[in-house]
Amino acid sequence: MKKILLPAVLFFSVQLFAQDSAQQYWLGKSIGKLPALAYGLGEDRLGGAKMGYVDTNIVFKIIDSVHSMYQVQLSKYHSAFIDKSFIKRDSSIKEKPFYLTNSWKLSGTDTCYDIVSISLDEKLPYKTWMEIDPSKIMIDIYGVHSNTNWITQLSSLKEVKNAYYNQIEDDVVRVTLELRHQQHWGYSIGYKNKVLQIKVKKQPVDLDIRKIKIAIDAGHGGNNVGADGVKTKAIEKNYTLLFAKALEKLLKRKGVTDVIMTRTADTSFDNKDRILFLQQQNPDVLISLHLNSTSNKEINGSTTFYKHIGFRPLSQAILNRMVEVKMNEFGNVGNFNFVLNSPTDFVNTLLEIAFLSNEEDEKKIINPKFHLTVANQVYKGLNDWLQQVQKMK
Ligand SMILES: [Zn+2]
Repeated sequence: MKKILLPAVLFFSVQLFAQDSAQQYWLGKSIGKLPALAYGLGEDRLGGAKMGYVDTNIVFKIIDSVHSMYQVQLSKYHSAFIDKSFIKRDSSIKEKPFYLTNSWKLSGTDTCYDIVSISLDEKLPYKTWMEIDPSKIMIDIYGVHSNTNWITQLSSLKEVKNAYYNQIEDDVVRVTLELRHQQHWGYSIGYKNKVLQIKVKKQPVDLDIRKIKIAIDAGHGGNNVGADGVKTKAIEKNYTLLFAKALEKLLKRKGVTDVIMTRTADTSFDNKDRILFLQQQNPDVLISLHLNSTSNKEINGSTTFYKHIGFRPLSQAILNRMVEVKMNEFGNVGNFNFVLNSPTDFVNTLLEIAFLSNEEDEKKIINPKFHLTVANQVYKGLNDWLQQVQKMK
């Protein structure tokens, strides 16, 4: 008897849930500056774990409200959370009984991108991530059934090797873009009308550091002062700028022609605006410089951070070079939720050079000689990484 009873109870509760969710939701669209989906309601110093950014004007089903977040139904079995400021109720949306994916087109451009265009019935939510060994860009599109019977691929493609999909759930289509190179160079994703467009960065033809466009971000600035020193009260924002300028000077001296600075003076610059600025500037690499601080004054050393696995090799290469100049290895930290680690558009890493909360590290931080040392080690790390990429080709 019991064997029959258990599935019956489960079936009943699933039915109840389905009925509830079918009746209790409203429709809205994503709005604002860099709207982002979160996995859950977790909080952290730099915000809870993010699934990633989404475009504006995407249609969302809002099923619940918890504090400052809405819960949105992505597909039958998936939901996510989004800050309320990113959703606007829209009663003009005419919901269809189902949505379809239509034909795709893939082509290369004269600029640095391959473009993958996936036409859909509506601007639907998606999630993307990178995979390595072999390198792939993955995209799950939610609330959609495939009707894609036509994937046109042109010979102008330089980076995307193969493109295909799986209907992994009744209403989730998983797109796989296999890349030609092991190193991820980044991608941008968003809608152009109802076509989901993925702009895949091609690997630069010339991997000479002098030909690579490098962005340097001096952390904090203006009214965002950052941490302060344990003994001298040195302020983080002033020293990140000095380290950034030392790096800029060195790169230019070594022949790097394209260097971008997010700031060159003591100015306020919101981190999201930095991302938008950098997306426009389109660097190959971003290095964000910060100084660490913690309540445990014994802790010292260098740390590198990345969020996306495809960008890990650069952060490891830079950390290795920091350890070489006798900086304690605090580690290479993955899946980090710092805002400037979140873009997928270009290779990026955050270097926390040393701890302002540690006396020994602080002495180094305020010494101009150390600014040159760090610039030199970052330069070496960049070169090591490029050589590694060349070998992997
Ligand atoms: Zn900082």
